[in-house]
Amino acid sequence: MEHRIPPDEPGILTDYERTYREFNWTSAAEEFDWSRGGPYNVAAEAIDRHAVGWRRNKIALFSVKASGDVSKYTFGEMADLTARFASGLEKLGAVKGDRIFVFLDRTSELYVAIVGITKMGGIAGPLFSALGPEAFKDRALDCGARFVVTSPYLYKRLEPVLDDLVDVDKFIIVGDGSDLGERTVNFGEVLASGDPGYQATNMAPTDPYIIHYTSGSTGKPKGILLGHRAMVQQLMACRYVVDLREDDTYWCTADPGWVTGTSVGIFGPWYLGTTLVSYEGRFNAHTWYSIMEQFKVTVWFTAPTALRMLMKAGDGAIAEHDLSSLRHICSAGEPLNPEVVRWGLKSLGRRIHDNWWQTETGAPCISNFKCMDIRPGSMGKPIPGVVASIVDENGEEVPPGTYGFLALRPGWPSMMINIWRNTPKFKEYFDIPGWYISGDQAYKDEDGYFWFLGRADDVIKTSGERLGPFEVESALIEHPAVAEAGVIGKPDELRGEIVKAFIILRPGFTPSEKLMDDITQFVKTRLAYYAYPREIEFVDSLPKTRSGKIMRRVLKARELGQPLGDVTMMDD
Ligand code: ATP
Ligand code: MG
Repeated sequence: MEHRIPPDEPGILTDYERTYREFNWTSAAEEFDWSRGGPYNVAAEAIDRHAVGWRRNKIALFSVKASGDVSKYTFGEMADLTARFASGLEKLGAVKGDRIFVFLDRTSELYVAIVGITKMGGIAGPLFSALGPEAFKDRALDCGARFVVTSPYLYKRLEPVLDDLVDVDKFIIVGDGSDLGERTVNFGEVLASGDPGYQATNMAPTDPYIIHYTSGSTGKPKGILLGHRAMVQQLMACRYVVDLREDDTYWCTADPGWVTGTSVGIFGPWYLGTTLVSYEGRFNAHTWYSIMEQFKVTVWFTAPTALRMLMKAGDGAIAEHDLSSLRHICSAGEPLNPEVVRWGLKSLGRRIHDNWWQTETGAPCISNFKCMDIRPGSMGKPIPGVVASIVDENGEEVPPGTYGFLALRPGWPSMMINIWRNTPKFKEYFDIPGWYISGDQAYKDEDGYFWFLGRADDVIKTSGERLGPFEVESALIEHPAVAEAGVIGKPDELRGEIVKAFIILRPGFTPSEKLMDDITQFVKTRLAYYAYPREIEFVDSLPKTRSGKIMRRVLKARELGQPLGDVTMMDD
């Protein structure tokens, strides 16, 4: 079963072990302008320092509308727009530390708004545009958002809750519709009122620049605050994990409503002066491949759920496009099934580099690097500067091969600063002295590769063994009939829990007893004797968060007829 995929071409990081040994964050920080007396601010480093240098006329952003129309912005133009927006916000009365939501589809204004807010010292709160009014309200009330940048149709969606949004001074409306209500003002007017010469506010390293609400896979989303100091790790991760270089055209498909969409989707690549591609529309295999072809995308960052959808769409779609520019692929957010890694190699001709992190970690912490063998199913090794381990409930490190809590040594630069109005929750992550406890379970092999087991709550205890749902799901999707699978532990008197699988079939397959037996047999030959699903249910869809993660707690609650808990983050 152990299968290794050797490096295909050299990466920026050439000797992982050596770099890991010699790395220190202090010298990594020397790349930033603030180390030479510039303002300490993520916006200054992402945009302004390029705008005064030779990158002034380099394209910072290709923004593709759902209609296919493309607009482009240079670093010089972005510097001007974000300065105007920052200054316009101040004229509206915004001050340092204000929470300012950005509730927009993925258009260029979203980028201008997020960076502009951070430039004036505000805390940007990007929210995925698929959120409903109640989910929006929960977040706005939680952190007392003072301004909301949105569009006419999204503003209308908020109508049922507008009266409850008592902290909001102004809705800044992108496009036509400044007369929507008394609290609205037009985005264009805010820009026009702003000063293009506005200088980024000097911040402290631990001043937050962004509040990201977590995906809500395990419960109520938490408002995670990341500090300006996160820039150091975001830059290094974009270099070592994403392998970004000067001449790259980079597409990160994660929405900026999630940490991936900003840390390695906006700020990290822009610290490096990379050209971004952004697409407003929804997922469609053909459109996605066309975008890669049209812009000659060289580096692509995406998520397992998207990759599984592309697999399901079939390789015919790939054959119709020229993807020869693509040289590096990354995936994060959920475990990456070995089958998907093998598909990438076969069908895209590229390795897919899985990396592990959380909203709370602010940037990638464990990764498969371009210079090392990939062991399909493994998350890889800690990034230089991050110390990761597997510990027991006393904080003792456990030997290789033993399951335990995936833990980090606190103090990496992009570590969350706090959780909004929930310091007790923040402190829980540090309950075991000397460690940050991630809430995930994993093990490390003899060579230092980390293997994900599951979220602590999802781990299945069956016949006295501990089993991760991911392992079973990965075996299931290797079966030719299975497109996606979600696996839970179902209470059982005899075995503690039994494995139950919910399966979406690929096009062309229909549910039957025979197919069920066939799938069961298939898994039995691949996994430990206790790990095959004793129950299988064929379903048309799986409950997922809006960021595309399987919500196993919802599968379980449904199965047991229990309350579903917080489902504001469930995709519909
Ligand atoms: P919530 O914290 O609200 O329950 P969430 O944990 O899904 O939601 P995120 O911060 O978006 O919110 O996701 C982080 C989690 O995603 C990790 O703790 C881990 O469980 C999972 N994850 C992320 N990347 C990987 C990966 N490469 N392999 C396995 N799991 C991953
Ligand atoms: Mg989490």
